[in-house]
Amino acid sequence: MAEIKVPYSYLKTQFDPEKIEKIVAAVRRVAKRGDFTLGKEVWLFEEKLADLFRAKHAVALNSGTAALIGILEALKIGRGDEVITVPNSFYATAASIHKVGARIVFVDVNAEYLIDPDKIEDAITEKTRAIMPVHLTGCPADMFKISDIAKRHGLYVVEDAAQSICSEIGGRRFLGTAAAVSFHPLKNLNSWDNGGAVITNDDAIAHWLKKWSNHGMESRDECAFLAVNERMHTMTAAVLLEIFDEVESITEQRIKNAALYDELLKSMAPFVILPRRLASKRQVYHTYVVRIPINYPWSRDNLREYLLKEKGVETKVHYPIPMHLQKAMKRAGYNFRFGDFPNCERQAEEILTLPIHQYLTEKQIVYVAESIADFINKTR
Ligand SMILES: *Cc1c(COP(=O)(O)O)cnc(C)c1O
Repeated sequence: MAEIKVPYSYLKTQFDPEKIEKIVAAVRRVAKRGDFTLGKEVWLFEEKLADLFRAKHAVALNSGTAALIGILEALKIGRGDEVITVPNSFYATAASIHKVGARIVFVDVNAEYLIDPDKIEDAITEKTRAIMPVHLTGCPADMFKISDIAKRHGLYVVEDAAQSICSEIGGRRFLGTAAAVSFHPLKNLNSWDNGGAVITNDDAIAHWLKKWSNHGMESRDECAFLAVNERMHTMTAAVLLEIFDEVESITEQRIKNAALYDELLKSMAPFVILPRRLASKRQVYHTYVVRIPINYPWSRDNLREYLLKEKGVETKVHYPIPMHLQKAMKRAGYNFRFGDFPNCERQAEEILTLPIHQYLTEKQIVYVAESIADFINKTR
């Protein structure tokens, strides 16, 4: 086994002793004030986040999943309703729809790993209330087409933007009724625990969610509706504020890394397939995902093993088992079968996530590309 030369995770690099000291000092300031519940850092963070999305409101919550659930509840989507989404996302997307009691309706994805707008209308029924596109890898789904479809059918658009902070389509950072963001430690803007937020221009949704996150409280002594605690902790906001100003440079570095990978890998077609890159989109590369087609005498998994064992390059797969084929879906009463979403299923066998984080050096990226070329030349 080779020593790890290109690690997938960057957390130890990001939080070096100096950075930790700076963040701990911010946490200490909160502790000194005893301002633990909805402290001023939370409000400050919400203001900055709304600005980042060029939106009217950001409501800070305790996770990205809470943000998805909160939006659906704010829109009164629940039992008897259907929500359209994709089967190639992280579990939280489908789970949030299930959690509010609505029915999950999957639509297959396109070659960019995103909801295929041309397949959405076939999935719309009288019960459909919302479309939930996922901007997987940090690449915005086709939001203009999706918004058009939603408008025509009177549906909401709930963006799962957990992976796509700072992404743009046609210069817009969000277009839907509302967007859910995550600050999980592995997201591009990351806290030390869980965190999330809802982005919206809708005053009613924002004000309702603020109460929803805090037990439905209208005032200290009045409860307007039954809800639990989904608040972002002041400590979390304090940590996020210390990192906040880096999010644009983190994004720029990831874009630069991706451009270098693109340049180095494009000559490896048809053995390595890159998704197309549209000029109208600013992709932020939460993950950098290529396809290793199954029609050659090797598999994606052979390459993964080679990269790790022979070259010390850590890779991942996002995600190897599509949601519709997870046993969780059977348990929830769904009856999907292999073959239901062929693009998603095929991609699950072919996709490979390369390290893309902001601390990679040019040398490391070249090394990863060369290692892939070595594997192909040796195995052909
Ligand atoms: C991370 C993630 C979530 C969930 O966010 P949490 O903050 O971990 O709850 C939802 N959807 C997608 C696509 C994600 O990547």
